[in-house]
This record gives sequence, structure tokens and C-alpha cells, in this order.
Amino acid sequence: MSQYLSDIEIARNASLKPIQEVAHAIGLSEESLEVYGKYKAKLSHETIDELASKEDGKLILVTSINPTPAGEGKSTVTVGLGDAFKQLGKNVVIALREPSLGPVMGIKGGACGGGYAQVVPMEDINLHFTGDLHAISAANNTLASLIDNHIQQGNTLEIDPRKILWKRAVDINDRALRNVIIGLGGKANGVPREEHFEITAASEMMAIFCLSKDLEDLKQRISKIVVAYNIHDEPVTVKDLGVEGALTVLLKDAIKPNLVQTLEHTPAIVHGGPFANIAHGCNSIIATRTALKLADYVVTEAGFGADLGAEKFLDIKCQVGGIEPSAVVIVATIRALKMHGGVAKKELSLNNPEALRKGFANLRKHVETIKQYQLPFVISLNHFVGDHEEEINEFIRLCESENMPFAMTKVWEKGGQGGVELAHQLLSVIHQAEEEEKVNFQPIYSLSDSIEEKLTKICENVYGANGVELSTQAKKQLKKIEEAGWSNFPVCIAKTQYSLSDDPSKLGRPEDFTISIRELKPLVGAGFVVAYAGQMLTMPGLPKKPAALNIDIDENGYVKGLF
Ligand code: ADP
Repeated sequence: MSQYLSDIEIARNASLKPIQEVAHAIGLSEESLEVYGKYKAKLSHETIDELASKEDGKLILVTSINPTPAGEGKSTVTVGLGDAFKQLGKNVVIALREPSLGPVMGIKGGACGGGYAQVVPMEDINLHFTGDLHAISAANNTLASLIDNHIQQGNTLEIDPRKILWKRAVDINDRALRNVIIGLGGKANGVPREEHFEITAASEMMAIFCLSKDLEDLKQRISKIVVAYNIHDEPVTVKDLGVEGALTVLLKDAIKPNLVQTLEHTPAIVHGGPFANIAHGCNSIIATRTALKLADYVVTEAGFGADLGAEKFLDIKCQVGGIEPSAVVIVATIRALKMHGGVAKKELSLNNPEALRKGFANLRKHVETIKQYQLPFVISLNHFVGDHEEEINEFIRLCESENMPFAMTKVWEKGGQGGVELAHQLLSVIHQAEEEEKVNFQPIYSLSDSIEEKLTKICENVYGANGVELSTQAKKQLKKIEEAGWSNFPVCIAKTQYSLSDDPSKLGRPEDFTISIRELKPLVGAGFVVAYAGQMLTMPGLPKKPAALNIDIDENGYVKGLF
């Protein structure tokens, strides 16, 4: 593989256009931009308001099979597909989430796509970008500090220090901060209590940020956050503390969407970024809606597999934001399907059509799921240079025999040109669905269903489980949620990304399993109930050999090893 340039080498060799030129191509004047250097800009609130009366373009959601360490390439396909639409002369904008430093320094790597399908400047976007993640961490931790200060200064709200729900956050994997004691050192240093950190991408502040429709909605949602219970077991909110204004001020610039470009100068809005396994996992509603106003076609991505990212995109984000996709792309790779068919990672380079056939069951389930949402779809086979012809032919045979539209995608190798077949296929399925008046997007549950009904529908219809079991603790929490009148919230299941079940070792298409929910947590500001399935942690740890070991900078300021 050494004859191929790394992602960062390709990105560094690219010649970028000034961001004003990229903006101009989608009808945005220089005045609409708040420029951060030469190649990044934020779109002002006025610009977004002015776009409100424009018609929406068509939204294409990119999702995938359950991820494996073999890599699926959703972001790569998303970016390459955007470039392909541009090559076909379409007015297109890509809408992506922002990277988190956790995966960048940890195990997964960056989040700007790869090969010749990347958003740039990739090292800026992967690192501090325009500071949004830091602003979200700051707003999160300011609230934590205000809660502790309130207790220290007399505690008129009678907050019970043992029942504080709000956690501090950092945007890095730091397992040592999962459970800590703060306030030690005597009276002048606060009230000692147990504290927990979570990664910023999994925080309620991030969820609120991504689900807010505008600045006012952001403030309203922040004011509703339940931060703790008082000594009478009643909820204490941000509004009770009177600090929603200050916290919103900290996010006033971050909430404006960021405009960048791909290697082929396709405009990309990169904004917001929770994880789809422990949060709802897609970019901000403001970003998606703005992109829809600016383009005829918007290509966006939801995290991990269709059971997590797409489900939450379609059931939470679309229902909350009044957004309707026109089609879905399901990304699969021969390598990942072979892993789902039982092949070990070190044997993935060997030709094995039999394992591919077996692992295809995972893709088949996700196709069935997307059909339940009544959305047209195209499977994208993200081609790796080492894929064997016999395996590719078997993949094609399976798709054809099961009537699944598919396209070979070579965007990593060839940029937009490698995605033209996929773009054509999408135009065709969208056109066909419109002709047959078949576009009838249907979420898996409706908001008026009970929390238990919502959980059951997701587990049975999306995961393929026999049912869902609530722990004694979850049952108690459910009762409280119902009493508080939060039953109409959508649910956000925190589950392993590796399996359709809640057991990460069950690859392929597991059968005869139930999903166990150990805890239910209402996030009143975000407006959803988190259901924890299995042992999901909201503060990941770093692996034995973190990606940070490969990252370096030379005397000229060139960054190395960012993938
Ligand atoms: P996802 O969005 O599914 O997590 P990414 O698009 O971020 O995946 O890709 C993960 C990594 O895999 C990136 O470093 C990218 O360069 C690499 N990659 C993606 N597609 C291919 C491909 N077809 N061939 C080789 N490497 C690829």
C-alpha cells in the first residue's frame, strides 16, 4: 500500500480556493461570511435568516453496515458522492459533523474522509477547527462550576450534592476522569463530592447544540436542562440557576455553521458532532437545514451503522427538525462483510467469497431497515484496491439476485469521478420514487408512542431483536419519566456499534436475542430519553497504541501522521 499517499499528504498537495469563491458558487456573498483564515468561514445568523424562504433541496443520507475494524468509509463516500454530483453539474452541498479529538488521538483517526475524497483543510478541521468543540466544553463546564458555586455560596435551591446529574466534559478520551472526587481541601475549596466526566461529543450540551433550530431555541433548551435534584427530590434546572443567558453567550459563535470545501472545491458545511453509539450522532439541524436551502442536493452522513446513526437521524433528528430525506446510501465493503462472515482481521486480504456470502446478512438487515422507513436506497460498494474479483462478482450477484440497487464506488482512489455511478443510481431511484409517488418517509415510531413502545419498535424492527428488557432500575426511572410528562420524547439508545445486538462480539446478523436496558436517563434540554443498552461508557479510554503516537510536526510546521 506504500505507493499510495496518506490522507494528509494528499490534502497537503491540494490547491484550495479562497473560501469566498467557494461561497460565491452557492450564491453567498462575501458579506454573508465570517471568515476564519483563508479557507474556513462561518455563516452569520442574518445569512441563515435570509435563506429561510428558499425551497429545500433533496437530502441524501449516507449510512453503513455495522462497522468493523476493517473500515467502511462512510465519510469518504459522503465527500466523494458530493464531488460526483458536482461533476455532473448539480448544485450540491455536503453536510458533515465535526471531528472529536477523542478518535483523532485515539483509535479511529480523523473524520474528514480519505484518499481523494476529503474535506479540507483537514488538519485544521481534525484539530481545533473554528473552536466549536472547545466552546461546547466551556459552556458545559461553566454550568458545572456554577452548580458547585451555588452550593458553596449557601445553596438556596437546596441542591442535594449526591444527586447532581450534570457532568463535566473534555473532548478527549480520558478514562481517569470517569469517576473523581472534587472539592477537597477544606471549606474554602468547595463541597467535596463525587464527579464524573464525559467526552464532549457525548454530552447533553452537544446534543442540545445539534438539535437547536436557532439561537433562541438553543437558549430555551439550555434553560430546561435538569442539572440536579434538590433535597425534596424535585428537579433543579438551568432556569432555576438563572444562567441560560450566560451559557448561550458562550455558544453564540459556535452555533453558526462552518463552511469549508472538498479537494474538488465542493462546498461542505461541517458543524456539530456527537457520537452515534452514545448520543444521537449527526451534524447540527442548523447545518443540515442551511445546506438544504443552499443546494438542490445535500449529501450528509450519520455515524456508525444504520442501526445507530441512521435510526437516530431518521427518528430523532428528522422528527425534531421537520427534515425529510429523499434517499439513503448504505456503504459496505468486501472486507467488512467478510469480517461479519467470520474472517479474522489478519486474514482479510485472502479471497473468500463464502465468508462474503455469509456476512452479506448484515447488509441485508440494514436494507430491510431502510425499506421500513419507506426510503429509496442505493448500496455503495466502497472499493478497496485489494478486493478480489471473485468477491466483487459475488457481491454483485447477491445484490442483483435480491433486487438491491448498488454502485461500485471508487472515490478514495479517484475522487468524484469514482462516485459518478453512485450519483447516477441515486438520481434514478429518487426519480423513480417520485414518479411512482413512493416517497413516503415513515419514522419507525411516532412521538406519541410510549417510551416502552418506542424502545420495542427500535429493538425489534431495527436491531432484529425478539424484544427489550428493562432492568429494575430502568423500570423505576421509566415511571418517573412518565410522571414528569416526558413520554413524548424520542429515545436515543446507547448501544455498541459493532453488532446489531447489545453484544459487540455478535457480528453478522444475530438472531434470538433481546436487548437489555440497564438505565433510562431523560435529557430534558436535548429533548430525548437516553436508554443504555449493555455496558456503554460516555467517556471512552485510549487504546494501548493511541494514534497520538504517530502524530508529529516538523520544523516548518508540517503536521505528520494525521492519517
Ligand atoms: P467512516 O466514516 O465509515 O468511519 P472514513 O470515511 O472516515 O470511515 O474512513 C476511515 C479510513 O479508511 C480513512 O482513513 C480512509 O482514508 C480509509 N478508507 C476509506 N475508504 C477507503 C478505500 N476505499 N480504500 C482504502 N482506504 C479507505
